[in-house]
Amino acid sequence: MKDEAPIPAAQSRESLPMQPTFDEIREAFQEGFQSIDDGDSFYTGFNAFLVSIGCVKRDDIPCTCSDQGGHGHMPECRWVKG
Ligand SMILES: [Zn+2]
Repeated sequence: MKDEAPIPAAQSRESLPMQPTFDEIREAFQEGFQSIDDGDSFYTGFNAFLVSIGCVKRDDIPCTCSDQGGHGHMPECRWVKG
């Protein structure tokens, strides 16, 4: 075992943490709507799904919305792979 694993080029290209994929976010939305159907809040299912795939919400990083929150922050704002 080596101490340092090689970093894939895609991840070392920029310093920003890796965001969930489009498909993962779409699935998280579905979980959120499902939790509304279950009488809970959207974010209960939405956040739980992202956590289940190894994501964390980082409050110490810049906004990750595609338009930097120009039209309001998306639910997946600041959620990145932990
Ligand atoms: Zn944002």
